[in-house]
Amino acid sequence: MNNKSAGLKISVTGIVQGVGFRPFVFTLATNHHLSGTVWNTSKGVEIEVFGSTPDIDLFYKELREQPPALARIDKITADSIPIKQINNFTINSSQVEQGQFLPISPDMSICPDCRRELFDPANRRYRYPFINCTNCGPRFSIIKDTPYDRTMTTMARFPLCSACKAEYDNPLDRRFHAQPVACHECGPRISFETKNEGIFCDERALRIAKEYIKQGKIIALKGLGGYHLVCNAENSHAVQQLRERKKRSDRPFALMAFDKSVIRKYCQINETEASELESPQHPIVLLRKNDDCSLPVNIAPSQNHLGFMLPYTPLHLLLLEPEKGFPEVLVMTSGNMSDEPIAYEDDDARQRLSLVADGFLLHNRPIHMRVDDSVIRVFENQPYFIRRSRGYAPNPILINFEMAEILACGAELKNTFCLSRSNYAFLSHHIGDLENYETLDSFERSIDHYQRLFRINPRLIASDIHPDYLSTKYAIARSTQESIPLLHVQHHHAHLAACLIDNNYYLKESVIGLIFDGTGYGTDGNIWGGEVLIGSCFSYQRRFHLAETPLPGGDTSIRNPARIALAQLFASSIDWSADLPPVQTFSQQEQSVIRSQIVNRINTPLTTSMGRLFDAVASLIGVRQIATYEGQAAIELENLYDKFEVGFYQLPIESGIIHTAELFNQIIYDLRAGVARSVISSRFHNGLSEMCLAVCKVIKTETGIETVALSGGVWQNTTLLQKTLQSLKENGFRVLIHHQIPANDGGISLGQLMVAATTFDQDLR
Ligand code: ZN
Ligand code: ZN
Ligand code: FE
Repeated sequence: MNNKSAGLKISVTGIVQGVGFRPFVFTLATNHHLSGTVWNTSKGVEIEVFGSTPDIDLFYKELREQPPALARIDKITADSIPIKQINNFTINSSQVEQGQFLPISPDMSICPDCRRELFDPANRRYRYPFINCTNCGPRFSIIKDTPYDRTMTTMARFPLCSACKAEYDNPLDRRFHAQPVACHECGPRISFETKNEGIFCDERALRIAKEYIKQGKIIALKGLGGYHLVCNAENSHAVQQLRERKKRSDRPFALMAFDKSVIRKYCQINETEASELESPQHPIVLLRKNDDCSLPVNIAPSQNHLGFMLPYTPLHLLLLEPEKGFPEVLVMTSGNMSDEPIAYEDDDARQRLSLVADGFLLHNRPIHMRVDDSVIRVFENQPYFIRRSRGYAPNPILINFEMAEILACGAELKNTFCLSRSNYAFLSHHIGDLENYETLDSFERSIDHYQRLFRINPRLIASDIHPDYLSTKYAIARSTQESIPLLHVQHHHAHLAACLIDNNYYLKESVIGLIFDGTGYGTDGNIWGGEVLIGSCFSYQRRFHLAETPLPGGDTSIRNPARIALAQLFASSIDWSADLPPVQTFSQQEQSVIRSQIVNRINTPLTTSMGRLFDAVASLIGVRQIATYEGQAAIELENLYDKFEVGFYQLPIESGIIHTAELFNQIIYDLRAGVARSVISSRFHNGLSEMCLAVCKVIKTETGIETVALSGGVWQNTTLLQKTLQSLKENGFRVLIHHQIPANDGGISLGQLMVAATTFDQDLR
């Protein structure tokens, strides 16, 4: 290493610790004959290299372009420094500074190297259920505090054996400083327990758990971020039993199969879907069912998609390893009772799941933070999030300006929260529906955890304007207790802001927001949800909205599409004729009760919700009268869509209102003429898409705005999304859809945060 002619100091920030970054730098520097040092700081990684200029240039290029699998470089800077006479390259110990922070890697699925070792009889970790390395394994779910070090994780209780220690200390080993590293000798172990048969360990535990599944029993499986309930997906009786015990009547169950070839027997997988299934995150991917799919219908009643994932931990791989007589596909659904958060602590799981599971496949590596599985679908060859959680959280969303430290509390359903510091918006994992004590508790504890991990002290809090949301109540209480200013952000404005930021759209210039969802509190006290806004992160105006219709029973009526249909027919001055399916579901007496409730406005707010319009149409044509989960009627209506039908229903637009009476009249006309429900579904979807184009054209004429943002839970309907996107683009509009976060309320907190950040930062105005 002679002829040194240059020195360079490089600073890297992003996810660069605990992901094998220093050994990668070491190898790279050595390959390029450079001397110097690399060390971790509280902000990232610092590197000093010395050598010839061409070598340094190449080193720097490869550093930027080929970082390790789990690394994420957010910022990299380089400055020339005076040459130091050092003869080798070393990895130095970390330098910790108080108050600094670093992003943390999410939990990642087992990597190909570890997978190979898992099934290699010659490897010392052969069939070890917790094999991992710097490129894979648990992270976020086991970290108690930062800096990320084994003592700060739930692995602290497992001292390394000498063989593991040697790997952990060797900069050239794949397990150098892999904090969760372990083996048969020193690491966590599995066990299987039942009330009657006692406790079994290791391979025996696995064997008996598999035997249980084979027999059609249900087991609770402790996974990466929580418990799953597992049964044989090929056995409809087992699936039915799981539904009954879990009290979940129709909502689809997620599935797991050993590899893609198994999934292909039941579903279509395109190239993007395959790469998403096999990505390091291993999300649940919604896949279109094959026409001859032989899996029991009760896995996902009335759905034409199934949610599949591949095994993402070594334990999952061992469980699903192909074996004669053992099912190829397992139901792998969250370990909870209907509306509660998933269990992740052993004693809690034993208690809460005791009535559901016949046995428990456990392990003794504690889960510190519960993290649900992520759910995506593929839209136009890109992932489109339904739920952003395991594998993605707590990866921050990168913002192109510095923000104050802000907490945004999110909405009620599908809650997430969001915290900002510097250029980072830390959007939380999926918390769940904030409707009970357990979920609220999880929400509060998770906020504390993120604040501690990323050293954030909010100076500003944002929340929804809905006075009854538990997230709003939390925001108000904290704001009062800690004297932090509070900003209430209207629900659909937050959706719009979330979509803008998701597309790196930071401009003050307004866009058109087609914000369609189920429910959100409006500034007039009504329930909004079919909103055409003009605005930016800074402000908005409501230009058009769906016609106001009564919602007898308020938000509780979302389980009752038939009741919604009657209310919307009433508002449209259409008789409740006995031939209409929703009318048939009620007795004369029930009808008069509903009528008087509507007329006298008893517990009957007005709504402009697009979700409720879908409910009403689904009910009107006899698709669904009672819903057992949110969005069920809309999904079933979408599933009927016939892509060959080009007709559409009119939704007249007048004085800022999108009228729906005409729509119902046209549907009833078709219904009475015997038109197929699939055709009616298509004409409805097509009509909405036409309406979207019409309102955008009006606004474009008025204002010149040509950019349209599509946000809100209704845009999970990819049939409507695809149609609308296409027609808007064909008519010269630039269309922003979601990419990094869900269109549903799981993305609301990011929107609230951005509204707060821009409202309070004068420089941004
Ligand atoms: Zn690995
Ligand atoms: Zn060991
Ligand atoms: Fe919403």
